[in-house]
Amino acid sequence: MINPSTEKHFGWVPSGTTDDVDAATRAAAGALPWLAEMSMKERGDALDRIADGIEERADEIAVIVSQEVGTPIERSLEWQAKQPVTVTRLYAQMARGYAVDRSLDNSLIVRDPVGVVACITPWNFPLHQIMLKVAPALAAGCAVVLKPSGLAPLSAFILAEVIEKAGLPPGAFNLVSGPGASVGEALATSPHVDMVSFTGSTAAGKGVAAMAAESMKRFTLELGGKSASVVLEDANLDEAVANSVHNCYANAGQTCAAWTRLVVPRRLMTQVEAIAAATAEEYVLGDPLDPATTMGPLVSANQRDTVRGFIASGVDEGARLVTGDMEPPDRLDRGFFVKPTVFSNVSPSMVIAQQEIFGPVLAIQPYDTVDEAVRIANDSVYGLSGAVWSADPKRALAVGRRLQTGQVFVNGAAFNYRAPFGGYKQSGIGREFGEFGFEEYLELKAIQLPKAALVG
Ligand code: NAD
Repeated sequence: MINPSTEKHFGWVPSGTTDDVDAATRAAAGALPWLAEMSMKERGDALDRIADGIEERADEIAVIVSQEVGTPIERSLEWQAKQPVTVTRLYAQMARGYAVDRSLDNSLIVRDPVGVVACITPWNFPLHQIMLKVAPALAAGCAVVLKPSGLAPLSAFILAEVIEKAGLPPGAFNLVSGPGASVGEALATSPHVDMVSFTGSTAAGKGVAAMAAESMKRFTLELGGKSASVVLEDANLDEAVANSVHNCYANAGQTCAAWTRLVVPRRLMTQVEAIAAATAEEYVLGDPLDPATTMGPLVSANQRDTVRGFIASGVDEGARLVTGDMEPPDRLDRGFFVKPTVFSNVSPSMVIAQQEIFGPVLAIQPYDTVDEAVRIANDSVYGLSGAVWSADPKRALAVGRRLQTGQVFVNGAAFNYRAPFGGYKQSGIGREFGEFGFEEYLELKAIQLPKAALVG
């Protein structure tokens, strides 16, 4: 592994084999009866012990992930270390309170664990993406085989140490690191795996879904995005634009749900450009371990080159470059940095309006009517997140209802850990977070009962 700020070698993990996948999936299958012996409360208590273990090592996790991914250290502590604790505790609580059996007329509706779940995860929020799968899967009574991203696998190994002490049956949690093309594909095709829970790019997700479908495994897919933040005429422009820029640039733009398109009234475009440029230019690029840094490098040389290629395509296609460019930032002769970049007057057909860039690049798109704003926002193969800004929250809500996307934020409202998160269209299938994410790991069974049994 390479530290993206220093470009120096930083750590290593084993490259698993298909034999490792076979052993891990068999161990997971062997743990299912033991997991079934545990009550929901006991599984919830085990999850709380896992949350405690992650919390105890939060500082260490934050520093490690900052060096793998480039997330500035304060944000890393919040997003990369503490957020997984919050998610795990919520699932612990949910497991203890969830009604597995429900009655419906003469039926008993039972929820069984799906079985062995292969969790395949990306690098941008490594432990957070992992716990969004591992916590609900274990709570449901499933056994897990985790394959983390090769770019940021170290927090998964810390998690394995934590889980070992949490009192779950042997085989309930297994970790196989290695490339997607070997370990990931072996998991997606394994006869011992009942479900694949995948987060990553839409391209890889389509391949995983096709492989899983061969044996009719269950699958959930959390994929890419190209989300739009729609500013209505009456919105507080400073607040709407600055918030949208910050959202777009979080984790150096490497966030699936980032609002990477800012859809604004044409007559306000000049003002919007000025606010966006001023906000972008305030970012301090540098070493993620320096508390003064507000934007780190991109995760890899490859990612940096891809993002610079998108910036070049924006220039070639005639978008107006408001701030930033393809050149390396001043004073940073090492590290995979890209300048915070804003394009304006971006038309819907341009590559930078359509493709997920996964870097700090914002596209401002003008509109003349609200109907056109909605059309522009929905003109995407993706549908993961979005925002609407207006002085009248009811008006914003009415526009939000028309967006074809899994989440919408009105006037910068708070993220809700219990609300469903996931994609319309090619942003995915299924949901994570809250009860919606939990139920992905349960099969439904209806047991029809004779009246006598019901009375008994
Ligand atoms: P990626 O698709 O390259 O890799 C994701 C995971 O899949 C990795 O563990 C990788 O090794 C594995 N993989 C790759 N090819 C595979 C194959 N053929 N078979 C099985 N496994 C395979 O994605 P990435 O670069 O790690 O992450 C960035 C992408 O993830 C972006 O598109 C981003 O939008 C998306 N993402 C989505 C969400 C969400 O919740 N919707 C969250 C985070 C990231």
